[in-house]
Amino acid sequence: MNRTLQQFLVNLSHGWSFFVWGFALLCVIAGISAQRYLNRSRASGDVVKLRRAKTAYALAASCFVVSIVALGLSILHVGCSYKLQDEHKCSVNLKQLHLAIRLYAQDYDERMPPAKRWAELISPKYVSADSHNCPSATTPFSYGMNAAVAGASWSEIANEDHTNIPVLFEADAPVRSFSGGMKDVAKFRHAGRSNITFMDGHLRIYSYTLLDRLAWKPKIELPAQKR
Ligand SMILES: [Zn+2]
Repeated sequence: MNRTLQQFLVNLSHGWSFFVWGFALLCVIAGISAQRYLNRSRASGDVVKLRRAKTAYALAASCFVVSIVALGLSILHVGCSYKLQDEHKCSVNLKQLHLAIRLYAQDYDERMPPAKRWAELISPKYVSADSHNCPSATTPFSYGMNAAVAGASWSEIANEDHTNIPVLFEADAPVRSFSGGMKDVAKFRHAGRSNITFMDGHLRIYSYTLLDRLAWKPKIELPAQKR
């Protein structure tokens, strides 16, 4: 069973939507009873009974419509909360990976890992392998590293001029490193937005159109042979 179907079934039985299902069923039963009462009243020709039957039928029909709307909203609400949980888990992953790169650099003469092997060099020593997987991704290893800073000296570029240079972002396996921008390779998994970490350690979520505002390359010249 794929994840979307599984989530849909969970949504149907989750929390108060279960009670709304019950209410909708009661409305259907009430509607059928009211319809029968209406038919009998029409046959008898009793005007008072007919008016009551029409009112009961309209009430049952209105309750049914309300319960269906409530059901739709509850499914939407639960679906959204799942999506927010995924986005939060993804941001936690990226922060842990970012910290792992920082720890790696401390052990390797302040150098960040090279772009081609950054993921395997930091796991499992500095971060668990699970952190490489965004919960909204369909493939494992769902993050990329900005190749423009990979292999560089952390202390050289982690100054005030470079606080807003991206380090990690959302991408697809098996390619995990890109240089000079990532607009065409980034994955926008969270309501059309992508999580990104920056040199000073902060994380932000960006939409496709806002990516142009980011500077991907440090202003200083970095030793290319070490990336
Ligand atoms: Zn993600």
